[in-house]
Amino acid sequence: MARYTGPDCRLCRREGEKLFMKGNRCYTDKCAIEKRAPNPPGMPPRRRPKESEYRTQLREKQKTKRMYGMLEKQFRGYYELATRQTGVTGENLLRLLETRLDNVVYRLGFGVSRDEARQLVRHGHINVNGTRVDIPSYRVRPGDLVSVTVKAKDLLVIKGAILSNERHTVPSWLELDLDKLQGSVLSLPSRDQIDVGIRESLIVELYSK
Ligand code: SF4
Repeated sequence: MARYTGPDCRLCRREGEKLFMKGNRCYTDKCAIEKRAPNPPGMPPRRRPKESEYRTQLREKQKTKRMYGMLEKQFRGYYELATRQTGVTGENLLRLLETRLDNVVYRLGFGVSRDEARQLVRHGHINVNGTRVDIPSYRVRPGDLVSVTVKAKDLLVIKGAILSNERHTVPSWLELDLDKLQGSVLSLPSRDQIDVGIRESLIVELYSK
């Protein structure tokens, strides 16, 4: 699946807020948003285009897409799927994004960012219910057990992520067993269990035009 391979910090600067894509660096003063005024890349300071309803909706969609590391086609696919489910489309969309395996690995703290978590999955370091799954978009279900493979337990990248993740709170729809490096999916997340600053209704408004 194609994905954006340019500088992550540029995307945060484009959105004018932190998208937390570089792990620990995002919490230090090395963060590009902290270091300089959050002016969009390639533009002189304090010159953002005029706000409009369309622009606000577009930026919210772009921000969400980038946060979860997706390109338009794949993101749109999630939206289409969300519209076919019962319930509130915006919430369905967020739930679909949150239950991706790479996001779950990130939420459990095995990777410092979604990008790193995606690499762990791709490289075959993650099991679901005891079977290796190397598809980042794999959708977890209640009752699933997500674990680090025996071989990967000593990987520095995972040890480093665990050590540096004190500020990381595991959401209540997941249960982490740190000693075994595994986590259970207790339920599908409800909106109040998804701790992201996203106004999903704007994305729905944009796509429903
Ligand atoms: Fe965004 Fe993190 Fe880069 Fe800061 S360090 S600009 S939060 S990716």
